[in-house]
Amino acid sequence: MKSKGQTCSFCGRKKEEAIMLISGLEGHICDQCAEQAHQIVSKELGLEDKNGAEKTKDASIEIAALRNLPSPAEIKLHLDQYVIGQEEAKKTLAIAVYNHYKRINHKNDHHEVELEKSNVLLIGETGTGKTLLAKTLAKLLNVPFCIADATVLTEAGYVGEDVESILSRLLQVANYKPELAERGIVYLDEVDKISRKSDNPSITRDVSGEGVQQGLLKILEGTTANVAPEGGRKHPDQKYIKIDTTNILFICGGAFDGIEKIIGRRLQNQSVGFKRNDAKEINPKKLLSQISPADLKSFGLIPEIIGRLPIIASLEPLDKETLKCILTQPKNALLKQYQYLFELENVALTFEDETIDFIVELSFENKLGARGLRGVCEAILKKHMFDIPSSDRKKKSLKITRKMAEDEWNAIQNLKYA
Ligand code: ADP
Repeated sequence: MKSKGQTCSFCGRKKEEAIMLISGLEGHICDQCAEQAHQIVSKELGLEDKNGAEKTKDASIEIAALRNLPSPAEIKLHLDQYVIGQEEAKKTLAIAVYNHYKRINHKNDHHEVELEKSNVLLIGETGTGKTLLAKTLAKLLNVPFCIADATVLTEAGYVGEDVESILSRLLQVANYKPELAERGIVYLDEVDKISRKSDNPSITRDVSGEGVQQGLLKILEGTTANVAPEGGRKHPDQKYIKIDTTNILFICGGAFDGIEKIIGRRLQNQSVGFKRNDAKEINPKKLLSQISPADLKSFGLIPEIIGRLPIIASLEPLDKETLKCILTQPKNALLKQYQYLFELENVALTFEDETIDFIVELSFENKLGARGLRGVCEAILKKHMFDIPSSDRKKKSLKITRKMAEDEWNAIQNLKYA
């Protein structure tokens, strides 16, 4: 039947605005009105299963929200509030997510061209914002989101977690509503750690490397998986919930340590035979942005997995300036969080500019990206966080000077090596 121009005869909602429009003899009813009608009937007949009814309604409201999808520019603007730098990665992700949900919203259009699912691969050193990007996106879109760690996964039947355990977690976050989980986002961390252990897979079984990659293939592409609601290992008497992964967006992340060398080698080989006078020097810091599927294959990902992660975004290592911004600027910047913590104790906490530089210098040396910032802050504020709650509650101010920070840091280091 041609769908153009159809509206719900009860609320007037257009077909495009509803998840579903059911046709009657002389009219139509949309999913939300049908749900409301069901609730009225159940109430009148005293059959109301309050929780159940509420659940379904919540789910349809949340799914409907995805129809007012923010544009890639709006998504990026939102990411800017929380994630410093990483401009290219933010743009790539914003486009990927926008297209992903557009594809879901139009999957019933029966157009001759079918939009394929495009999962994303984020590559960058630890602490550069991969998880933060995925988490911030999910929050904006108000979809279920979970973080899974690829290193704990093993091939089904071996000690460790099955690949389906990732979906159990998503289902739990979605309050056990499969219809919500099926539109969620999974951030799968450390995918680089499941690279093939050897070039010859037949020597020994590679149950945590290639075996896991094989298991992931299906759920990345789209399959109906039997998921144990409580997670853990599967056993025969368990009840399973079916989850279709076709519309779940997988954002995979990894540091891919050493891949720069592979990229560099490939780029150098490419330039052999094309001796050009204007050939530019390759900037080693920008190598990651030149990554290609061939490099991922050389690293140890199987071609089928690479094919299911067609969108690759690289994150830049964080320099001192970026670390300083991360410490002070985002909506929930670390220093703002400490100031709030102290404010709750009636203490106005401030930092000398030089103190901020000191925190940044130490974190930069630790090479833990922005993750190192918290450790340093915790160390230099430890004494105050211990003492203040037991002091009187009078309003005070506390300015952390560089000297104070250095002394605290050195005292802790001396303890470590005493
Ligand atoms: P990873 O790349 O290892 O997934 P995370 O996203 O978990 O790193 O970041 C670790 C910590 O550093 C988080 O607290 C996060 O808020 C902060 N962080 C990392 N990169 C950025 C960034 N670009 N902007 C703001 N905060 C960041």
